[in-house]
Amino acid sequence: MRLTQMLFVTLRENPVEAEIPSHKLLLRAGYIRRIGSGIYVYLPLMWRVLQKVSQIVREEMNATGAQECLLPQLQPAELWQESGRWHTYTQAEGIMFALQDRQERKLGLGPTHEEVITAIARDMLRSYRQLPLQLYQIQSKFRDEIRPRFGLLRGREFIMKDGYSFHSDIESLQQTYARMHQAYSNILQRCGLAFRSVQADPGAIGGAGSEEFMVLAEAGEDEVLYSEDGQYAANVEKAISLASPPQPSPFTTYERRATPGTETIEQVCQLLQCSPTQVVKNVLYQARYDSGVMVLVLVSIRGDQDINEVKLQNELMQLAAQYGSKTILTLEIPDAKAQQLWATKPLPLGYMAPDIENDYIKPAKNLSLEFLRLVDKTAVDLQHYVTGANEVGYHVVGANWGDPFRLPERVVDIRKAKPGDRAVHDETQRLQSARGIEIGHIFQLGTKYSQAMGATYTNEQGEEVPLVMGCYGVGVSRLAQAAVEQSYDKNGIIWPLAIAPYQAIITIPNVADSAQVSAGEKLYTELNQAGIETLLDDRNERAGVKFKDADLIGIPYRIVTGRSLSVGKVEVVSRASGQSQELLLEEVASTLKQWIEQALA
Ligand code: ATP
Ligand code: MG
Repeated sequence: MRLTQMLFVTLRENPVEAEIPSHKLLLRAGYIRRIGSGIYVYLPLMWRVLQKVSQIVREEMNATGAQECLLPQLQPAELWQESGRWHTYTQAEGIMFALQDRQERKLGLGPTHEEVITAIARDMLRSYRQLPLQLYQIQSKFRDEIRPRFGLLRGREFIMKDGYSFHSDIESLQQTYARMHQAYSNILQRCGLAFRSVQADPGAIGGAGSEEFMVLAEAGEDEVLYSEDGQYAANVEKAISLASPPQPSPFTTYERRATPGTETIEQVCQLLQCSPTQVVKNVLYQARYDSGVMVLVLVSIRGDQDINEVKLQNELMQLAAQYGSKTILTLEIPDAKAQQLWATKPLPLGYMAPDIENDYIKPAKNLSLEFLRLVDKTAVDLQHYVTGANEVGYHVVGANWGDPFRLPERVVDIRKAKPGDRAVHDETQRLQSARGIEIGHIFQLGTKYSQAMGATYTNEQGEEVPLVMGCYGVGVSRLAQAAVEQSYDKNGIIWPLAIAPYQAIITIPNVADSAQVSAGEKLYTELNQAGIETLLDDRNERAGVKFKDADLIGIPYRIVTGRSLSVGKVEVVSRASGQSQELLLEEVASTLKQWIEQALA
């Protein structure tokens, strides 16, 4: 492609809308343009990158035996009502764009496709002889993200590969899941990315086991905890670890103490000269279920620990039926204003005890009249501990479960694992932390969707049973930008060869010099004939501008028809290493071809 024929506009200044390097660079180098919040145009250079990523994904999917198809983006609400996710996706998570057609039928724009694919399976899969079966598609997805940001990393319209598998039993699902794990590793490796696979929380998609593929980068929104021995890695949302043992308590008798101005654990520990591991803190949440019921949740946990809200949400989901619900719409720590809606009098925040009275809750419709009391494992074995006295400015010391506080019935494991914690598989291993960009997520769904939607098949024994399912997603557009986040320098992008929009760029420093022009043209023809994807910078611009642009857009090899033309040579520069070398004109195509083949092998 000739630059003079391209939509080629680069920016010298950093665009104000961009916060992280990859986003800035893709804008500056003319790969993407923003049209609205979380909505981007993929310009021709970007589209080539996306097609290359898609092709790698496609090859690896086909190699697992999966078949490509294309599912509708416009999805009838009925399917989502059948699976029970219409509410969660349009209201709780609010991630699905929902609309109404002229006949007032409700529809959603596909954020994911479990419902559609399960409907197809229900319709077409009848017998165990058709199993296992794998389908996938590569397509734009729509999600009304609360905070679209970082360009393509969190868009509201983005490209995803989503795949689904159907099985007669768990063993067959696990075999396919293992093959998918390998395929995902191959995809990321072929795209030239440094990554880690980690245990993950399945979130609203559901199911039993799931793993995420994280591209390691500072800008990542996810935190990964891992052990140095390589035996354990998990998203912090899911991670488990051993809490440090508590310090012995300095208090032997139960007493009430005046502790003015100690709303925080740190303040109370300083005043009472004790360790946060000897405090039971009581944290209040309000959870609203989809039946409209609001439940006030009091979590007692050891003072030095934090609550993992994903784990808390999972616990509360298990109680949904108890409140006549299927799902939780919101879970938050109520601020003063929110408390006014349900509290009979101001709560002693910062000084609450595990037995705070239920009469703080107004008798009102849609309000559960008792605190749902949960205790985290870390607080269960504490003795002679410090906790609030249910009165502002007072704590109690030397308290025990049983005397005077009743241990809540529901003992849960919802503490947040932290870097520095001991690993569960080996206490000598300390967990380390890294930032990651989630690129892929694979799930063992089991029968969640098939059961809800009645997708059954007839097994060998002639019984009608639900299909066992798996699902597998890769963010194609997110992956492409993550590659830039991992590979750039002060001059611009450094594309991994496998996904670079073009492999080589021929720069003619001076288009007024006919020798340079004819050498450039000759090379352009030869390189294209050799199957090397080549750009020709034939613009009437200063050499400096051309060199800057070539670096900015990150093409792996730059060929310059400069001074050494007089001895029949051109300069070839590698974008990644910065190394340059002179090659005879007639050797350029064959040499480059060899380099590229080697690099992609
Ligand atoms: P996240 O936690 O980052 O929101 P997710 O768990 O919602 O991701 P999945 O539903 O598992 O993501 O979707 C599969 C893949 O699609 C993700 O691993 C990610 O690569 C990509 N993806 C998800 N949301 C977005 C988005 N808003 N923009 C770009 N890519 C996305
Ligand atoms: Mg998401």
